[in-house]
Amino acid sequence: MLSVRQLNPFEEVNLLFDRAADRLGLPDGCREMLRRPWRELQVQVPVRMDDGRIQVFSGYRVQHNAARGPYKGGVRYHPEAGLDEVRALASLMTWKTALVNIPFGGAKGSVQCDPNALSQAELNRLTRRYTTGIDHFIAPHRDIPAPDMGTNAQTMGWMMDAYGLLHGHSPAIVTGKPVELGGSLGREAATGRGVVTLLQEVARDLPMDLKGARIAVQGLGNVGAWVVKLAKKQGCKVVAVSDINGGLYNPKGLDVPALMAINGLDAPADDLPEGDRVTNQELLELDCDVLVPAAIGNVITVENASRIKARLVLEAANHPTTPEADEVLIDRGIEVLPDILVNAGGVIVSYFEWTQNLQEFRWDEARVNQELTKILIAAYREMRAKAKTRNLTNREAALEIGVERVARTVELRGFV
Ligand code: GLU
Repeated sequence: MLSVRQLNPFEEVNLLFDRAADRLGLPDGCREMLRRPWRELQVQVPVRMDDGRIQVFSGYRVQHNAARGPYKGGVRYHPEAGLDEVRALASLMTWKTALVNIPFGGAKGSVQCDPNALSQAELNRLTRRYTTGIDHFIAPHRDIPAPDMGTNAQTMGWMMDAYGLLHGHSPAIVTGKPVELGGSLGREAATGRGVVTLLQEVARDLPMDLKGARIAVQGLGNVGAWVVKLAKKQGCKVVAVSDINGGLYNPKGLDVPALMAINGLDAPADDLPEGDRVTNQELLELDCDVLVPAAIGNVITVENASRIKARLVLEAANHPTTPEADEVLIDRGIEVLPDILVNAGGVIVSYFEWTQNLQEFRWDEARVNQELTKILIAAYREMRAKAKTRNLTNREAALEIGVERVARTVELRGFV
């Protein structure tokens, strides 16, 4: 038998899916339909670099499932975001949108590139070429991309423009756009806000006093930075953060305003808040109450799971914990809130953005935040109740709710 460690990311996600399908007693045919992506597209993305050379990148869009609504999911710019990784992320989007019960399916896209090594002009050209490569595959009622790792509001602005040149003005083609181009107020903060909303909810249930609770955040991208800011507002002590340049640790709490003032932890030593340098690996094992992996996947593994000291793990990244490591954390009594719930704030506000675009209307930020909180807390409560009554882990309960919802719509559509 294949050891779990040898599975690729898509097989890992499907291992969790298969367990949920077993518990639900899904018939084989339905299980196969839900496991495999419905459609996949690979495109060549040739880019004229600033120095005149042509470099050819690989781009993907995987449409995993659209039984509950149009395909929805981000576009990742990362050298390792190959087809299996994109399939895994697309599948997670299907279960995520179903869990929080918004009318979307699941998709994901990527361009295998290192965005930090490209100029803004190169990124603009790459994005336009990728968009024209997939433009027949996406549409405001078919598949709606959004930002993910390595992409941002500006990327979505370029995508919207490239799509609009071919199809006419279509703001609803992407979400997570700049507000000036029809983006939703509150979208940029939404994923981080969702993480901290859930932190407040779970803290009430555990219970855990958030005043002075020590939190360590891996990743200072859009999600991690908002988690740091909003957790601090709740009275948490941010003891450690990290980015691609490594981490910074101060058991007395890092100076958050000083941290927000710098542009990455490779800033000159004098500008860095007071603290000791740690590696990204060491950050995960620090003495803290709450650990938030908010960077790449597969960082909590069997190698380090037994050394994690946090009492609560909030998975802000997609798939940060391998299935084997998950078992170790559960056995050790660590509370884990799964990715498909914890980082759902982004796609929930994407849903609001999309509906605002279709209606050519705008909500104020307070309304966006209020509706976001309502949806997330309802999903959290539903997951908790299921986990408790059926004696499941949070992850098992969350996935089961999502899978059951999608399976039901497949049946109701009657398309087989
Ligand atoms: N990339 C984000 C995620 O993984 C947001 C997706 C979206 O808004 O469509 O959930």
